[in-house]
This record gives sequence, C-alpha cells and structure tokens, in this order.
Amino acid sequence: MKILFVVLNLFFVIHACFADTDYHYFVDLTHVKDDKLTVKLAPPDMTENEIISMFPDMVPGTYEVYDFGKFVSNFKVEGKDGKMITVEKLDRNSYKLSPADAIKEITYDVEDTWDLTSFDKLIADSTKRDKVVFEPGGSNFEEGKNFSLNTHCLFGYFKNKLDHKFILEFMKPKGFYPSTSITDMTLSETKDILSIYNYHNLVDSPIMYSEPDTTTLIIGHSKVLISVYSATGVITSKFISTNLKALLNAQAEYLGGELPIDKYAFLFYFSDKPSLSGSAGALEHSYSSFYLMPEADGEDIAQEVRDVAAHEFFHIVTPLNIHSKEIGDFDFNNPQMSKHLWLYEGLTEYAAHHMQVRTGLTDFDEFFGKMVEKMQNNRENYNDTLPFTTMSKYALDKYKDQYGNVYQKGALIGMCLDITLRYYSSGKYGTQDLMNDLSKKYGKTTSFNDDDLFNDIEKLTYKEVRYFLNNHVSGNKPLPYKDIFAMVGLNYIDKRVQKQITLGGISVSFNPKTNRLIVVNADKLDAFGKKLKFKEADEIISFNHRKLSLENMKNVLGGFMQNAKAGDKLVIEVFRKDKKGNEKVKTLKAKVKPVKVTEIDVVDISQNATEQQILARKAWLGLH
Ligand SMILES: [Zn+2]
Repeated sequence: MKILFVVLNLFFVIHACFADTDYHYFVDLTHVKDDKLTVKLAPPDMTENEIISMFPDMVPGTYEVYDFGKFVSNFKVEGKDGKMITVEKLDRNSYKLSPADAIKEITYDVEDTWDLTSFDKLIADSTKRDKVVFEPGGSNFEEGKNFSLNTHCLFGYFKNKLDHKFILEFMKPKGFYPSTSITDMTLSETKDILSIYNYHNLVDSPIMYSEPDTTTLIIGHSKVLISVYSATGVITSKFISTNLKALLNAQAEYLGGELPIDKYAFLFYFSDKPSLSGSAGALEHSYSSFYLMPEADGEDIAQEVRDVAAHEFFHIVTPLNIHSKEIGDFDFNNPQMSKHLWLYEGLTEYAAHHMQVRTGLTDFDEFFGKMVEKMQNNRENYNDTLPFTTMSKYALDKYKDQYGNVYQKGALIGMCLDITLRYYSSGKYGTQDLMNDLSKKYGKTTSFNDDDLFNDIEKLTYKEVRYFLNNHVSGNKPLPYKDIFAMVGLNYIDKRVQKQITLGGISVSFNPKTNRLIVVNADKLDAFGKKLKFKEADEIISFNHRKLSLENMKNVLGGFMQNAKAGDKLVIEVFRKDKKGNEKVKTLKAKVKPVKVTEIDVVDISQNATEQQILARKAWLGLH
C-alpha cells in the first residue's frame, strides 16, 4: 500500500509538472466530405470557468475583414468524463464555452474558401460585409490533389491565449508533402506533425500539401524553397526557380549583399480555372509567400511572377521588420490600422521596381514607364489630396475605395523620398539605407508608435525629408514631381503638345499565327492615319518596301519615327479581308505629315544639371 501511495504521489507530481499548455490540432486530409475537412482540437489545460473560442475577423496583409468563422460549421464541444459544456455562439467568429476547465475536445467542420459550394447561402445569411476571400489568403481542399492551407482558415485560438504552442497533426495521402516555412516538422508516410510557438506565427505560416514539385535555391547563405502545384502540370518548380534565381540574386544585392533571412518558402498554385474572387496574386508572410496565378504560357507568366514575387519578397523588410504596434501586436478580431501603409505597401512596391532597374534587370525606360503608369493611375482613379496617413488609418472603412492607391501613389512616395535622400546625401544614402537603418532600430519584435515614425526618420536623415513627409504624406499636397526630378537633373513636364511623326495613331500587336504585325485598334487614327486609311485587323506585310518581321519591326518603325520628315513618302502593304473573308493585298500611301500629340508625364535629361544633381541621379539608378 505504501508503495502504491508513493507511485500515486509521483504520478501526481509528474502530471502537475507537465500540465499541457499546448493546442493540439488534428486534421485528416484523406477525408474530405462535401468539400469540408473535420478539425479536432485538444485544448491547452485551462483553469477558467469561461473561455471564448475565436476565429479571426481579419489577418495581416489582406486589409480586408473576411470573418473566417463563417466557414466553420457543426461546432461541438465534448466535456471530460461526459461533463456537459455550454456553448453559446456570440457572433460569426466566436463561441463562449463553459466550464472551460472541463473541455476535452472541440470538433468542427471547415469549408474551403476557394470554391465555396455554400457561398450563395452565406451571402443570403450575412448581415454585414461579405466578401470572397482573396485566394492567396484563403484555403483550397482538393481531395487527392492539393490542400492550400492558410492556417487561420482552419485553426482558431482562445481569447487572451495566443502565446501558446500550436501542434498540428495531419493524416495525409501517401506521397504528400507539406511545403511551408515551418521548420519544426516530423514527417512520416501517412502522418506529419508540425509545431509552431504561437498563434501570430501560425497565421504567418501557410502550408501547401500536394505531391511535391520543389526546388531549393541557395542565395548567399539563405535557402529558398520554391514549391509549385500546377493544375495540369504545365508549370514546374524548375521553370519558376530558373525564373526567380536572377531576381533573388538581384534582391540580395539590393539589400546589401545577403538576404536577411536563413530560410524562405515560395508557395505557388497555378490554376487552370478563373478564381472565385476574380483576381490572382499573392499574400506575404515573414518567411514565405503564397501565390495563386493562372496557368498561362510559360513566358507570359514569367515577368508577372517576377514582379509579384519581387514585391512579396520585399515584405521581409516591411512591415515584417519595420512596423507599428497595430501590426506588431495584430488584433485578429478588432483589427486597427496603422497610418503608414505608404511605408509597408508603397515602399515595398517601389523597391520591387527600383531593384530591377538598379541591378540591370530592366532599363530606365521600362522603370520610368511603370512609374508613369502609377502617376496616371493615381490621378485618374484616386483622391490625390487626401492625406496618405489618413487614408491608411481608415483603409478598412471610410477610405476603403482608396486602398488600391498604396500600390500607385504609395510607390511614388517611395520614389520621391529616395530621390530626396540621394540629393541631400550627395548620392550616399537612399531608401534602401533608410530601410536598413529602420530595420536595425526596430526589427521583427519591436514595434514603433505610429506618431513617432516621422521623428525617427528625421533623426536618421534631413529636415528636408521631414518637410516632404509633412507636406506630401501626412499633408494634402500632391507629389511635387518637378522639384523632385530636378534634384536628379531631370526635367519633368506634366503635359506638352508637340508636333511629331507618328504611325497614324494605330494600336498594333503581333499575330503569332501569321507572324505579322496586326492593327488591333484603329478608332483613334490621327490626321496622318486617316490619310493612310488604316482599318482594324489590317496585317502589315511591308513598310516602305521593307518586309516587316518580329525581328526587324522595332528598327524599321522606330527608324521611321526618328528620321522621317514632312513630305516624305510612306508606302505600306497590308493584308485586308474583304466582305467574303478573302485576304487581299492593299497598298496604303500617304505623304508624311507631323501631327499634334499631347504627351503627359515626360522626363528628359536636363542639360544644365549641377554636379550634385548628376551625382544623385547616378547613385539613384546605380549608374557608374
Ligand atoms: Zn504588399
């Protein structure tokens, strides 16, 4: 009896030492029923009488409230020793459970967000704000093929209990592999266990389960996983990694020689169907990013992947290493916005393009073309006098329709700031350096106060930078392009009318079937085009007696526009279909006539640039 007593006592002691504070989640990926997965949770030990079980209203990076609890059904709670647990549904995302200390297991079903069978019903049921989840932040259950798991779609948390370990156990089809940035993994043939140390990091770590098509790139000291799921198998991780390698090397160079992470995962889902939300794109995380993109022809998708990946990857700088309290301590159920979206999204978007021109992946014309598109987009589609910090603070509600401007004016703020810094530092300091310094000052675990950021930037830089931020970021003044471009010895003209040699005002494209240049739009013919009498669908055979091909068209047409003079003859031969659909050769003839063309947002090199301006320009564009 005594022995038994000691054993019992020991048992008690051991048990007390190992009170289980972890969340244990179980999901069986081999059983999908009605497009739903069943999730089981053995909760951490609790002493409270009452607890609130929650699913997020919103997650970081999406800037959209989705109410992930709306995808959960059949929510059941089992008590220890058959004890009854009272469950009260408080709203779409939360349940009050009591007594909490007697909970043994919680079970529920989750539907995926990509192809909701019950979406119409959800719309009908909804009392507020219903939106299709932007797929890179959602979930996809395709039995036997692919499970794209943004973890917040499946797993919830208990209120005030986010800082606990989460242990995820997956039963999986044989041959499936979890691509993710989570490093604590125990894998076997049919069962995997993944662990992560708190809820913020769980939400930050999407997992893509499928038969693996992965490639690992080594960039400096960093290991980068490229995982690809392609619906029909046309796109491979080998193709994507070849495509991303130069980009990642350029990003490392831009960030000072090394990538500031040990490991990173790119998770790509290439779809052969249009998405439910109608969009494609990606969502960023600290050590990974998730992409939903169309399964387009390889070369078509290549530049698209590079532009999106460059943007998402740069989020490792901000907001991941430079963020305010609203983001650092993100409230999943009462999200607060920071004033500094110009920094998180704008500077990221700017860096994604600036990096490409600085490292020679693109040229100045291409880079400037992208910036001009943003200037025009900002002017045409957004309120240019709304202070950017105000828009940012209310981007979820009052200024929701202005959010898209973070990728337009936000990036332009980045460009103007970069040029200002280059000018005042005689080329030595730019936004790259500023971001570096801010990352060092704050970092992943330290958040700044929204109101302190401009002070901190001023301390690191110049009073002129503070003036710029006050007037054009928190103030209502549009960006001063003329003054800014002057700092790098460029003349900026917002609008000018000039007489120019044109191709007649046609829009052309290349027809790969016939190997010919085709007129795709003849609605806006100028006076010269009208004389030539272009028609839509004309296919150009020869231009001033030179046969036109894909290889020579740039030279032939460019040469004409540069060298032709008023009164020169132009003869163009085209194939044109007649009413019966028969192709006939037609000759279009006219004497060259310069026409008035209105150009907007033009820059050219100033001949009177000072040394300081030239120095700043070279430093800005990485020219030597
Ligand atoms: Zn972004």
